[in-house]
Amino acid sequence: MKKSSSAINCPLCNQPVEEIFLSLDRPVFPFPVDSQEKESMHGRDFHLEDIVLDYYYCQSCALLFSSLIHDERFLRSLDYLYSVHYKNFVTRFESSSEAKPIRHLMDLLSGSIRSMSCGKDCNILEIGCFDGYILYKLKEEGYANSLGVEPNGYAAREAKKHGVEVINDFFPPKEKLHRLFDVIFSRFVIEHVVDLKGFLEEMVERSSPDGMIAVEMPNPYHFIAQGNPNLFYPAHTLIPTDLTLANYFSARGFEYVYSKVTENKEGIQALFSKKRLGEEWTKSEEAIRKSRDNVRVMLNGQPLFLKEASKSLSDKKDLFEGISSMGKRAALYGAGSLCGNTISLAGEYKGCISHIVDSSSAKWGNEFVNLDVAITAPEVLEENIDNWDCLIITSTYHKEIMESLRNMDGKEIYTLYPSLKRLR
Ligand SMILES: [Zn+2]
Repeated sequence: MKKSSSAINCPLCNQPVEEIFLSLDRPVFPFPVDSQEKESMHGRDFHLEDIVLDYYYCQSCALLFSSLIHDERFLRSLDYLYSVHYKNFVTRFESSSEAKPIRHLMDLLSGSIRSMSCGKDCNILEIGCFDGYILYKLKEEGYANSLGVEPNGYAAREAKKHGVEVINDFFPPKEKLHRLFDVIFSRFVIEHVVDLKGFLEEMVERSSPDGMIAVEMPNPYHFIAQGNPNLFYPAHTLIPTDLTLANYFSARGFEYVYSKVTENKEGIQALFSKKRLGEEWTKSEEAIRKSRDNVRVMLNGQPLFLKEASKSLSDKKDLFEGISSMGKRAALYGAGSLCGNTISLAGEYKGCISHIVDSSSAKWGNEFVNLDVAITAPEVLEENIDNWDCLIITSTYHKEIMESLRNMDGKEIYTLYPSLKRLR
């Protein structure tokens, strides 16, 4: 494993960490941006192309963190991105695509609230509430004492429009919170937080004597085991594991009561409580133990699958390199990782990509990393079958893709996950 030139201290527990877990040596974009947005970001004092992105893994507190935490310019850009940059988003009131995972989190919350004496009068705080959708839904179910904190002004306004009380700021907010909360939760926020210690400490401080904390966050074990590097991009500055939070909160009087991998395996829900919860929760102890065992097995004293993730990237490079040097043209199927490394890498081999097929990303338009390739529907591939020689499938989950490709005789097919494979 690569050693960094000097030890870097873990931003959470301050232990020295020497080994680089994952090195990404090309520009990666933290989220989908069109060329105009890219221009405006470059107009500020930060250039994404300058990035050398290394990730470290702290063995003491099981935290993954990026080398960018010491880059002041980058951190300033992040603040700008979260608070100002996003403005043309689809709210969850308009799109129901997140309904199911949100339902799961709400079931977890209301299930645990049932064991509290305050019942529906409980005080709820959501950190990074975005458009306020979850708090709005909880209100509909009778949980009226809630507050959201959201740095993005456009999203905070949207929340207010729906009657959700919200403080438009980062967490902890500058305006001191004077009340305590029985339930504090956040959903896919913690991996974007730069001052994790301050964030966790304020969660603890704001918890009522029987309080509970629920966090939904990425499941790094899944990405690592898949050899899928798309979890690792600049906006994910610190990536805690459930073990990181378990260590932290249990040292502050919380019990680790629940940990569950989400349906798509890409997330973990973790629940911590100051009060011993009722019988129904003790059933989950077995699951927790297993989850902790998994952590040990998978990390085994060191991050076991790290090399795989690294390898996946260099394999991809080899693949694009190979296709390009043979003068072949490839179609890229399933660009769900449009905001990540695959597409960024594809951008370096412009001439060799003929089509990108991805229905969900089509709305982002055709200006991705200046590829000059239209994002199209699957039928287009068949209609233009003479214009490409091979197909790169960015995921192995698309059974229907394989079904629809039966007639494409003579075409080479590659898949990028879980590891690079030639299918035929
Ligand atoms: Zn640490």
